[in-house]
Amino acid sequence: MNKNLILVVEDDPSVRNLIVATLKANDYKYIVADNGESAVANAASHNPDIVLLDLGLPDIDGIEVIKRIRSWSNMPIVVISARSEDDDKISALDAGADDYVTKPFSVAELLARVRVMKRRIDATAGSEQSVFVNGDLRIDFAAGSAYLGNAELHLTPIEYKLLSLLAKNVGKVLTHTYITQNVWGSSWDNDVASLRVFMASLRKKLENSQGTQDYIQTHVGIGYRMNRVD
Ligand code: CA
Repeated sequence: MNKNLILVVEDDPSVRNLIVATLKANDYKYIVADNGESAVANAASHNPDIVLLDLGLPDIDGIEVIKRIRSWSNMPIVVISARSEDDDKISALDAGADDYVTKPFSVAELLARVRVMKRRIDATAGSEQSVFVNGDLRIDFAAGSAYLGNAELHLTPIEYKLLSLLAKNVGKVLTHTYITQNVWGSSWDNDVASLRVFMASLRKKLENSQGTQDYIQTHVGIGYRMNRVD
């Protein structure tokens, strides 16, 4: 595996140059593709560590690029999309993208996303462990119990399922549809409304003595992500 090799897929030269200059300045190795077909071909031949993918490409759609890459690889994919394309972001995440940045984005924001993905790669390198640890949060999957510090969390079965699902995908934005399909097996509007209620309750239970929690981040209109806090 090439260490820290990033595949940049962007047909707009000005955006592509910005991304490339940013990566270069931060010692990342990169390859570029300016259309969907060459993105898929480069992903297959170079096996990059991260893909930064523009959704609006001149030949095949970015969503199609994600689907094709996902047919053989779980390589992290960060989608780059315009602010007006919320539905596209959701489709991209449902197709298997890990995260997104919204145009116009800052260099700092882009690098933060790349770092999150790198940590995700490192964290999942030895995955399939029976115990998950993130800061003070510990989940014992074998026992079906979760702890915050030394205190066991008293979770309802659905809250436990939600927490486990987020933990198993730490660093990745999960859409409402993805979560409800995994937890309830369906995705009606009612489920999304219920999800908000369960998530509010779960977040409350993860709060520290100052009444805040950093584990579960809400992406308004899109879904939720568990952040690495350690
Ligand atoms: Ca474009």
